[in-house]
Amino acid sequence: MVCRHIALAAKEAKRCVNDIRLIAISKTQAAPAISALLAVGQRDFGENRVQESQRKWPALREAWPDARLHLVGQLQSNKAADAVALFDAIHAVDRLSLVGALARAMDKSGRRPDCFVQVGMIQDEGQRGGVAATDLPALLAEARAAALPVVGLMTVPPVGLEPAPWFALLTKLADDNGIGRLSMGMSGDYQTAVRLGATDIRVGTALFGQRI
Ligand SMILES: *Cc1c(COP(=O)(O)O)cnc(C)c1O
Repeated sequence: MVCRHIALAAKEAKRCVNDIRLIAISKTQAAPAISALLAVGQRDFGENRVQESQRKWPALREAWPDARLHLVGQLQSNKAADAVALFDAIHAVDRLSLVGALARAMDKSGRRPDCFVQVGMIQDEGQRGGVAATDLPALLAEARAAALPVVGLMTVPPVGLEPAPWFALLTKLADDNGIGRLSMGMSGDYQTAVRLGATDIRVGTALFGQRI
């Protein structure tokens, strides 16, 4: 169902469906539910907590070595090394201290997970994090200077805002800053996100059902 909706939205936007990566957000889901999706070919998964991922994923990865794991939640600098060791992509780079911590962890371990810089609103009541659009160029410059492999921008629409104009703004920010990938769109708005240029959509409940 989700795949069909992605294909339809891509077609409407005259985009190639292969350019859109579906990340199954498996936070709170137990291993059997995750294995069921792996068994039907899903390979990209997202978690929002480092510790939960450290418990769940080593065994799953052993069984499915080509699974790719994305960290989509906020990351504390003191967990940067753990995150670099475990994840293939980190979607919530949103401040200078974290850029530094990630760069050091990457230098030390030799692992270089793809990084997405999270864009948000300064006074978002939901506290979802993210750098303000006006501060994005400076943070990107720092991330590039630290040789962080920045591949994309990520966002969660601020609470109470229409997602479509917000997604369009993100697309423009990516274009303006020479960034190729856009991590945006969740269960309620991924079709809108695909129409507006998302390359990485993060879908949880629409795939797994309601989280408990
Ligand atoms: C939980 C979560 C999602 C998935 O949300 P659903 O509404 O269940 O699709 C996507 N992105 C982030 C950052 C999340 O924390």
